[in-house]
Amino acid sequence: MIPFSPPRIDQKVVDEVSAALLSGWITTGPRTKLFEKRITEYCGCKTTVAVNSWTMGMQVFLHWWGIGEGDEVILPAYTYCASANVIVHSGAKPVMVDIGHDDFNISIEAVRKAITPRTKAIIAVDLAGFPCDYNALNALVREPEIMNMFLAGNEHQEKLGRILVISDAAHSFGAEENGKRTGSLTDITSFSFHAVKNLTTAEGGAVCFNLPDNFDHDAIYKEFCTLILHGQNKDALAKTQKGNWRYDVEEPGFKCNMTDLQAAIGLVELERYQENLDRRKEIFRQYDLAFHHEDWAITPLHTTDNRMSCYHLYQLRIKGATEQQRDAIMQAIFDQDVSVNVHFLPLPTLTAYKKRGYRMEDYPETWNKYSNEISLPVYFNLTDEQVSTVVEAVKKAVNTIL
Ligand SMILES: *Cc1c(COP(=O)(O)O)cnc(C)c1O
Repeated sequence: MIPFSPPRIDQKVVDEVSAALLSGWITTGPRTKLFEKRITEYCGCKTTVAVNSWTMGMQVFLHWWGIGEGDEVILPAYTYCASANVIVHSGAKPVMVDIGHDDFNISIEAVRKAITPRTKAIIAVDLAGFPCDYNALNALVREPEIMNMFLAGNEHQEKLGRILVISDAAHSFGAEENGKRTGSLTDITSFSFHAVKNLTTAEGGAVCFNLPDNFDHDAIYKEFCTLILHGQNKDALAKTQKGNWRYDVEEPGFKCNMTDLQAAIGLVELERYQENLDRRKEIFRQYDLAFHHEDWAITPLHTTDNRMSCYHLYQLRIKGATEQQRDAIMQAIFDQDVSVNVHFLPLPTLTAYKKRGYRMEDYPETWNKYSNEISLPVYFNLTDEQVSTVVEAVKKAVNTIL
């Protein structure tokens, strides 16, 4: 069986994790701090806080930004449930909009129509690793008319004076727009280092801050590190210093720090990230080559003149296939011992969001793309021979079912 996305775990990772285990320090410590520094350098953002998941990083961030009851946060209907769940838990209302025509990302025109005086933030998702059109989104929130409509609810929001732009970059570590990497393309970026993502720490995540210069990013870093550790003003490492045991808690915080064991994996992953990305790019090239001339195939957009994917998911679409036919094609692929996937079940198809009144028919482009989409395996250890096996399995399945 060709797996869908196994992590790249080898002796180097084992050695680094062993070294962390035997170092005498296994929770947040020097390796986590170094990992944060390396992410900041790699992404070109102003500061980074490592956390235990995309979800908790974003949850704490929304709390810190003061998002709550009565607020609206705009997001695409085409994403993983985490993007919306954190908004629900913040108390704000998720305002779902459709995706655009050319790719799987949020439609900027749909965002424009959804903005109200209650809109506090937009969570744009870089689906499959292809960055959203942030040139357009960043310009939109700075349009005078849109800024005039904005109502700040607290000091942070007042200081920004406009709608906050957040990237859900769970798929897009290393992707670029105008030669700049994700993490530095919007005000706030949240990464996921979950086992299936293209940079992993088993579970984990990071929040990159890239707010305007009137924000003190060193102060934000300190405050956020406190907030992810119960609000305790000294972390465990600081408390090990001689006599430095007393601490205070000014506000109840959360608990979602990254451990040095996770950071040990992340540091290896980051060191060889370019190598991994290059391999995924080559796999995309091979899939493109194999499917380009098939009249039933729609290959995914992954590069434009100013945007470059990090090649996380190859979202092939089967032209004209219904949802049932797509499911049958997937079964026929699985029957040939090849694992494939669907990204994603649109939020309005999930019971939790149906119950909250979201209706699939309001997002036709999302349905259009979801219903005939199949994600193919893409990862460093996938060999050329296995890529050929996947291609043959897909072609055979399509020819049998359609
Ligand atoms: C995986 C994923 C998340 C959640 O990441 P966790 O680290 O598991 O919390 C959020 N958004 C998208 C688009 C994802 O694919």
